[in-house]
Parts: sequence; C-alpha cells; structure tokens
Amino acid sequence: MRSPKYYRGSSDGRRPLAGDPVAKVQSHYDVVVVGSGLGGLTAANVLARNGHRVALFEQHYNLGGLATWFKRPGERTETGRGQGHLFDISLHGFPVGMKKTCRKYWTPEIAGAIHRLEGVRFSNPQFDLETDFTRADFTRLLVEHFGLESARVTGFYDTLAQMDFFDPPNATIGDLFEEHFPGRNDVHRLLLEAISYANGSSLGDPAIAYAIVFTNFMSQGIFTFRGGTDWLVRSMRAELLRHGVELFHDAPVERILVHTREPRVTGVLVGGREVRANVVISNANVLSTVQRLVGEEHFDVDFVRQTRAVRLNTASCQVYFGMRASQGLPWITDLLMDSTAPTFASEALREFPGHSRTFSFYYPSVRPEGPARHAIVASLNARYEDWAPLDQPSYEAKKAQLAEHTLAALERHLPDARARVEHVEVATPRTFAFYTGHPSGTSFGTKFEGLDVSQRLPEQIAGLFHAGSVGIIMSGWLGAANYGAIVANRADALLHSLVQAAEDPHLKSPL
Ligand SMILES: Cc1cc2nc3c(=O)[nH]c(=O)nc-3n(C[C@H](O)[C@H](O)[C@H](O)COP(=O)(O)OP(=O)(O)OC[C@H]3O[C@@H](n4cnc5c(N)ncnc54)[C@H](O)[C@@H]3O)c2cc1C
Repeated sequence: MRSPKYYRGSSDGRRPLAGDPVAKVQSHYDVVVVGSGLGGLTAANVLARNGHRVALFEQHYNLGGLATWFKRPGERTETGRGQGHLFDISLHGFPVGMKKTCRKYWTPEIAGAIHRLEGVRFSNPQFDLETDFTRADFTRLLVEHFGLESARVTGFYDTLAQMDFFDPPNATIGDLFEEHFPGRNDVHRLLLEAISYANGSSLGDPAIAYAIVFTNFMSQGIFTFRGGTDWLVRSMRAELLRHGVELFHDAPVERILVHTREPRVTGVLVGGREVRANVVISNANVLSTVQRLVGEEHFDVDFVRQTRAVRLNTASCQVYFGMRASQGLPWITDLLMDSTAPTFASEALREFPGHSRTFSFYYPSVRPEGPARHAIVASLNARYEDWAPLDQPSYEAKKAQLAEHTLAALERHLPDARARVEHVEVATPRTFAFYTGHPSGTSFGTKFEGLDVSQRLPEQIAGLFHAGSVGIIMSGWLGAANYGAIVANRADALLHSLVQAAEDPHLKSPL
C-alpha cells in the first residue's frame, strides 16, 4: 500500500522581503489599523465607507489573519505535476449570523456565498449520530436518543434564552449542565464538544458566553463560505481598495505611539517610519497591544494589573491531508467530531496526542469554480507548552507522530485513507504564533475577562481601540467581524466629534 509522504518542509519559515513594504505610506491618516484579521478588515471597511482615510498594516504577506489558506504542489506524476492542494485553516463553520454581518459590513456577494453545511456528525464511544445542529434536531435527539423528557429539554433552551449578557458571569457552563442534565456526561458532550472545538470553551467558562454562541448555532445550523477563504479574502481586499483603504502587507507595526504628555495615540511606528493617526485600532492580541505595542508604562497601574490577569485562550494543532485527485473522496460528512475518549472532559481535548479531533471534509463543491480538489483538515485543541520547548528534531518527530496518530483516526472513517492521501502536513501552536504573532499561538485570543480590557483601552488612551478575539463571543469568524464593526462605530463617533470640535471653538477636543 502506498503511504503518504509526511511534509517536513516547515511552514514556519518566512520568505525574504523584496523592497520596502511601506515605501508608499503617507505621513498621516485618520485611522491606522494594525492587523488584517476579520476584526481588523471589518473595522477598516466600515471606517473607510464612512469617509475616513484608513491605512492597514499587516505583518504577514497575506491578509486574513487566522482566516487564511495555503497551497502545496501535488506530487510529480508521469504526466506532470498534479493540480496541487489548497488548505483552509479556520473555515470549518460559523453561525448563520455571518450572513447578516457580511451583508451589512461587506457586500451582498460575500453574504450570498454563505451556505449551510450538509452534514455534521459526532462519533465517539457514547454516541454516533448525524445532526443538522439546530434546536429542533437537538431536541429530537435529546428526547429520542438520550431519553430525556421534552419538558427538561425545553427548560434548558428557555434558560439559555433568558440569560442576560450584562448579568455578572457567576454560573459556569458546568453549573448550567449539572442544573439541567445532572450526571449526564453524554448529554454534556453533545452540547459542548463542538463549541469547545470551535472556540476553546471549557466547563469552567461562563455559562452566558456559551449560551450566546450555542444559541447562535442552534438557530439554523453550521455555515461556511462557498469559494473558500482565498475567494473571501480576495473579495474583501477588493472592497477595501474600492473604498480607498491603503493596504500594506509584510509590514509589522513596531510600536503604537502615544503622546508624551497626554494619554492619546499619535500614530504608529512601522518600517522605521512614524505614521500619524487620530485613531489606532489594534487587531493584534489585546495583551500584545498593551504590553508590547503600546507599553505598560502608558497605562494606569490598576489597568496593568487587570491586563496581566487576563488568561489566553487555548491554541490548536492541525493536520492537513491533501487527497489524490485521481481517487477523490467519497461523501462522509462535512464536519466530524471524532473521539475515542470513553467519556467527555473539555480539558482532555488539549492532551497530546489525545483521543479527540474534528475532521473537516472539503469536497470540490467548496470551490465549484476551481479544479476538483479534495482535502481533509483535522483540528485539535492544543497547549503551546507542549510544543514550545522542543528542539527542531524533536519538534519534527512530534509533528510526525501527530500526523500518524491522526491518519490512524481517519482510517476508522475512511479505511483506505492512507492510499488516498497525497500530502500530509502539521501546524502547531508554534506555527500559529509565528504567522500571527499571537502569544502562545492562541487561536481564540483571550478568555472572557479580555473583553473588558479591550473595551477600556480608549478610556486609558484616547484614540486607541482594540478589535480582535477576546472572550468566546468576540472570537471566531462571526465574533471577530462583529467586534470589528462595533469598534469601528465607536472610532467613527470619536472622529466625528473631533471634526465638530475643530469647527466649533466652544467645543473641547475629545483627544
Ligand atoms: C485552527 C483554527 C481553527 C479555527 N476554526 C474556526 C471555525 O471553524 N469557525 C470560526 O468561527 N472560527 C474559527 N477559528 C477562529 C477564527 O479564525 C478567529 O477567531 C478569527 O479569525 C480571529 O480574527 P481576529 O480579527 O481576532 O484576528 P486574527 O485572525 O487573529 O488576526 C490578527 C492579525 O493581526 C496581525 N498582526 C499582529 N500583530 C501585528 C503587528 N504588530 N503589525 C501588523 N500586523 C499584526 C496578524 O499577523 C494577524 O494577521 C479558528 C482558528 C484556528 C487557529
């Protein structure tokens, strides 16, 4: 049997830069956005649409942040190279709300490319079932498959609906489950496993954050973009350019600059140049923003203390399988939550090599315009500490071990997987840290408490905003894009009051 070749060429290496990436930058903008994740891109688009002069700097050569993709060549055959492989990193699924967000803050074409996943499956020792991930279907499963009374299930959904985001987050997800389904680990697994994969939540996280995300998914199921991440980011780029946003890639912002005497931003330092701006929106991790880009010395002592107490969210590993074009891929499902762990514990999802992972299956229908490509991407929650201290040979060996372990897991669902796979590659928390600069390679920013720090930045330093993954609600594709829009509207209000203050000498400048 042919065995797939494990790709050792590390994806953690950067090509050298040609020329000066910020050669064309102007000396002043209304707004500078630092980072091109979905939060940064959306903030830039909303502000440029409102008539502000916006520059966006991205340290990577591609836009999109974690919403990104990569290509690998196919193997050489007698007739030449295969068509190659294209892998999406974080396009696995999001709630239907993304349609409204894209219609409102992007274009009808982008919103129109959003489609529901056809198949979602759980496979573990406690249950093996298909679902469309809606409230109606979960209710059916909880009653018929898990033997619960329908009143109990209704009571659970009613509690979720009544939860208020502004209540103090006392109850945890674990409390919520024990209250409604005491001792039913199998039910807890059904309710939380997919969300834990989706944003790193664990049983100790606030119930309210879970309630919002879970309810979002339950309204109509799990959605994806037809056309893939490459099409989406290209479309967003075109829209930004249409609104006059100046985009700079390969352009890491070294510092966010603060006035020497007053607590307000003055711009950024990028490529050794000072670029002035009234508003700076950082899409970098909120901790990096405070501690590295601005510097703790510019904040109140209490705020610094609060920031230091913010916990990072978990990181991820991924195993990418490019399938031989000649053999394709039979229909299995779109999204498979696969585990051999006899019972569910959200913390155990991070163990190495672990018993659990999701498989996303990418059929040619994902990119109907392109060549018929088939890929499978396994995503696993992971700990940076398990990967960070390794020297290169140990790192490569551990990646190969994970690839083999995951391929063996895939074989349970696709028995001849080994023969069908042409390309195998592994990304680790180190890879994500390298490409995004996120501390510990966190895939979902910070835990819940990061939101308050993020929102309080403008109180500390006028004109400084953060839009990026913080907490469960403001992360993921939908959360990050929505947060970008919320922050853009706050920045827009500040910029308008600046204009008014400039026109009316009786008004005090907000900066
Ligand atoms: C493996 C994986 C799977 C995922 N799966 C899903 C999923 O199925 N569904 C879902 O909804 N979400 C998923 N996510 C999460 C989702 O991708 C992220 O929450 C979202 O894309 C984050 O957007 P963001 O705006 O916070 O910015 P990020 O995507 O985190 O981007 C931040 C950007 O800032 C740039 N930057 C940082 N510092 C600087 C600097 N100093 N100068 C210039 N640029 C800088 C970085 O290079 C990066 O491009 C997944 C994430 C991972 C890692």
